[in-house]
Amino acid sequence: MSSSPRVTSATVPVSAHLFDRASSVIPGGVNSPVRAFRSVGGTPRFIASADGCTLVDADGNEYVDLVCSWGPMILGHAHPAVVEAVRRAASGGLSFGAPTEAEIELAEEIVRRVAPVERVRLVNSGTEATMSAVRLARGYTGRTKIIKFAGCYHGHVDALLADAGSGVATLGLPTSPGVTGAQAADTLVLPYNDLDAVAAAFAANPGDIACVITEAAAGNMGAVAPMPGFNAGLRALTTEHGALLVMDEVMTGFRVSSAGWFGREGVAGDLYTFGKVMSGGLPAAAFGGRAEIMNHLAPLGPVYQAGTLSGNPVAVAAGLATLRAADEAVYAALDRNAQRLGELFSSALTAAGVGHQVQFAGNMVSVFFAECPVTDYAAAKASETWRYPAFFHALLDGGVYAPPSAFEAWFVSAALDEDAFDRIAAALPAAAHAAAAATPEGSRA
Ligand SMILES: *Cc1c(COP(=O)(O)O)cnc(C)c1O
Repeated sequence: MSSSPRVTSATVPVSAHLFDRASSVIPGGVNSPVRAFRSVGGTPRFIASADGCTLVDADGNEYVDLVCSWGPMILGHAHPAVVEAVRRAASGGLSFGAPTEAEIELAEEIVRRVAPVERVRLVNSGTEATMSAVRLARGYTGRTKIIKFAGCYHGHVDALLADAGSGVATLGLPTSPGVTGAQAADTLVLPYNDLDAVAAAFAANPGDIACVITEAAAGNMGAVAPMPGFNAGLRALTTEHGALLVMDEVMTGFRVSSAGWFGREGVAGDLYTFGKVMSGGLPAAAFGGRAEIMNHLAPLGPVYQAGTLSGNPVAVAAGLATLRAADEAVYAALDRNAQRLGELFSSALTAAGVGHQVQFAGNMVSVFFAECPVTDYAAAKASETWRYPAFFHALLDGGVYAPPSAFEAWFVSAALDEDAFDRIAAALPAAAHAAAAATPEGSRA
């Protein structure tokens, strides 16, 4: 894995040393693949601490954070109310393996915000949430096949890894070894934003499709919003064919509005998955939906689902404190900050003469080096992703921490302030020129 001279960043000896050390005990030196910087080259920054919109790496460099832990940190890092809630919960015991009142409060908060959700079960990660929702959809309908969309990522669930976005896209994998043919065969992968393909798949598999799972608005191939009518069309087709519509709001939920993408669009799914924001940076996630479906779960029904640490009191405290602090002013700030970031991208890239699309899915934003708007995974992959490493590293050198992949959304927090925007604005011209000067050979594809 070589990186071109153009994409080397300022030296970071402590991070480099930590990465070497990590690589001898952790595969690739990281606990989640995109963190390794493989597609952008250079040394991953090991983070020592974070506060507000600022990350500090192990060498003492400061960065404006536009990743926000891949979405959760809408309030910024170490928000006092969240930290205090975690401190209070932790001092009362870390885990009981028995129910607590706080779990009810978090479930009530989710049900209050997202109208189609009547019952919620807490799990530990978004992966568990989608895995459980798909199992429930199969158990409820008695059918085996599922439809997913290319470029959508639903966690590393075996049946959902085919043509997945996020790190699977970043590393250019069609799917993953270790997923059996049977698991893959029951997953029909269709192009995003293509209702005709969905209608054709239902026609070709009568009575076999348990559910359609979709990112409510795609963020894992970059920000690719559903075209007007796409989600409504999925709603109509699933209803017509007796299948369930699973809206994966792990990324969009409680970020793009107080009720997630549902709050922006109003198309009701049968089942929902949540994660990221709802646990405020600690490991917790959830799935939910209509009571009549959710009541098929054990102990009420036969569909089994469980978790030793599910509803963990510390994670629940972080989630509740985050959601309670996320008022309309926070959502307005997120929207405003995303728009402002998008305008800065456009003006810098236009000035540098680089063809680009700044795309939004609510307040998630992406830059594609493409001439036309990107509406599906094929178009995302066809964009000039080879410009991205140079763009990324120039920003990093300028103190701006962007996603280390061309196939990810950028995440703003409400904590971005004038200083942060000044730093972004100062770093962008050099980054845009680096993107303009990049060549397909100059960087790893
Ligand atoms: C992040 C994500 C997941 C997986 O969540 P993890 O907590 O990483 O397992 C699932 N679906 C979507 C849409 C995501 O963005």
